[in-house]
Amino acid sequence: MKLLTGILDLIYPVVCINCENLLVEHEKIICTFCILKLPVTNFHLDPANDMAKAMWGRIHIDFATAYLFFRKAGITQKLLHQLKYKERKDIGTYLGSRLGKQLKENYFIKGTDFLIPVPLHASKLKVRGYNQSQLICDGLQESLNIPVENSLSRISFTDTQTRKRRFDRWTNVSQKFVLNKPELLEGKRVLLVDDVFTTGATIEACCQVLSGVKNVSIGIATIAMASH
Ligand SMILES: [Zn+2]
Repeated sequence: MKLLTGILDLIYPVVCINCENLLVEHEKIICTFCILKLPVTNFHLDPANDMAKAMWGRIHIDFATAYLFFRKAGITQKLLHQLKYKERKDIGTYLGSRLGKQLKENYFIKGTDFLIPVPLHASKLKVRGYNQSQLICDGLQESLNIPVENSLSRISFTDTQTRKRRFDRWTNVSQKFVLNKPELLEGKRVLLVDDVFTTGATIEACCQVLSGVKNVSIGIATIAMASH
């Protein structure tokens, strides 16, 4: 185990993402001091939280939460930047697992059947090599023991189609996503997972597609919500 830890230390730097102090043995990614400073939203305790409210009148969802507030130059931005652009895949599973621990006793989560990651554009996936939402789902699964189902796919258009679609894309956002195996989700409770909630347009588009499934109940969870 010691040897493995040693090898992992070579792959992932052993300093805290936020304060850059050396991590001690039981610490991972963020030091204990910085964990205490994480801007936790506790949205899961308030059904009328800002994220749920942002979706009111747009699409019906039964649960909404974000783990952290996102502020410019704050700790959340540092974490997400490393996750998305510096190949720190471990941050995705780490944050997903922390969020999962927080949600363990939640009324909605307790009855959730599937975790569904928001899919990444094929072009972005090619560049990055991984979908951060998938990693967050892996972390959530670790804590919650709920299976991950890749129910959504992005539709990729050819250039001509994109040009043609430019005019109607605002009215037809939902058509950016398609549902795989919809029968699997019938009568089920699903949690849609993404890294960050800003305007909610992507989440809304995914929920539109998901809500076409008979008797489905939809919740949304992200690692961060940008405060406006
Ligand atoms: Zn720190």
